[in-house]
Amino acid sequence: MSTSLLYHAFGVRGYQYIRTVYEAGRVRFAIRQPRKALRCSACGSRSLRPRGAVERLFRALPIGGRPVTIDFAVPRVGCSDCGAIRQVAVGFAEPRRSYTKAFERYALDLSRHMTIRAVAEHLGVSWDVIKDIQRRDLQRRFARPKLGHLRRIAIDEIAVGKRRRFLTVVLDLGSGAVVFVGEGKGSDPLEPFWWRLRRTKAKVEAVAIDMSPAYRRAVAEHLPGATVVFDRFHVVKLFNERLSDLRPSLHRQATAEKKAVLKGSRWLLLKNPENLDAQRDEAARLAEALRLNRPLAVAYFLKEDLRRFWGQPGKAMADRFLEGWIGRARASGVAMLGKMADTLEGHRDGLLAYYDHRISTGQLEGTNNKIKTLSRQAYGFRDREFFKLKLLAIHEARYALVG
Ligand SMILES: [Zn+2]
Repeated sequence: MSTSLLYHAFGVRGYQYIRTVYEAGRVRFAIRQPRKALRCSACGSRSLRPRGAVERLFRALPIGGRPVTIDFAVPRVGCSDCGAIRQVAVGFAEPRRSYTKAFERYALDLSRHMTIRAVAEHLGVSWDVIKDIQRRDLQRRFARPKLGHLRRIAIDEIAVGKRRRFLTVVLDLGSGAVVFVGEGKGSDPLEPFWWRLRRTKAKVEAVAIDMSPAYRRAVAEHLPGATVVFDRFHVVKLFNERLSDLRPSLHRQATAEKKAVLKGSRWLLLKNPENLDAQRDEAARLAEALRLNRPLAVAYFLKEDLRRFWGQPGKAMADRFLEGWIGRARASGVAMLGKMADTLEGHRDGLLAYYDHRISTGQLEGTNNKIKTLSRQAYGFRDREFFKLKLLAIHEARYALVG
């Protein structure tokens, strides 16, 4: 070991190596700081009187599997210029941390591939130490996302954890980054976001939201110039929910034979036809369920038909298509379809706006899956702030999305 190796391998610079002690599977390096390198940590003066020292141990990079500590008697000095009496600043560690900056960087590198627990075990420190290292790193880089560049955003709520508590998330559709996380659902959690957005003078052009009145009102109030897009993902989701409601009501009226067929058809109805599993005969089972139930069949085919709305060559064609669809739905005589026709008619502008801004919260759904993975982890609700920071960093996927 040498002073030079101390610097190059352990990131400890400007200190002298004194000795190495091997003790109970650990390696301890003792170092000292040359007198002439001492500075007052308050004013930077070199005019100092010694006032003893404070023995401290810092965790450093391991050697092989061996934990390494750096023993350093941090000099205490009295300053002749400013009168302060205190420990000199330690260059290789953050204030009040018992590990070196190099140790911290190494833990962050490992965190890209390993769980917090695995990193902690590998480095022989507690889970909390690694979590704290991650938390401070996330805090530094993601706690205050920049909003000034936002042009197209999506707003959505997500249910998190076993108790299905809601978070409201704002996604930058340009970068895919989560730029805001609020507690709860509806428009209230968005208030801090609007406040921050206003101060940046961002020119948001388009917002993808579901058809709930709460978001509609909030966007109209805070982004009056932005185009609202009721996006495809939410329209299909709403349709599927109503389709699922339709099935049990038909079920109650059905004969025993029909019941047997209808049983288990729910997932088939919700699947896109191209995803039906041939090996499990899903297409045939679906066809049989539809044959026995005219309303269900009509609803199903109109649902499939509606998907074509998002594949039209332009806005005028899409407008005509929507008009036609609404007419077909009303003519079907199926109450659920009539209701859906009313909903779509009431949101016509926002639906057609897709042809001005081809955006969708579907992008947020991809992020949603990552969020679900995150929320299954133990720390999901033990530390809400940590969880929110992880959400704000989710597009970077810099940490292993496990344990
Ligand atoms: Zn001083």
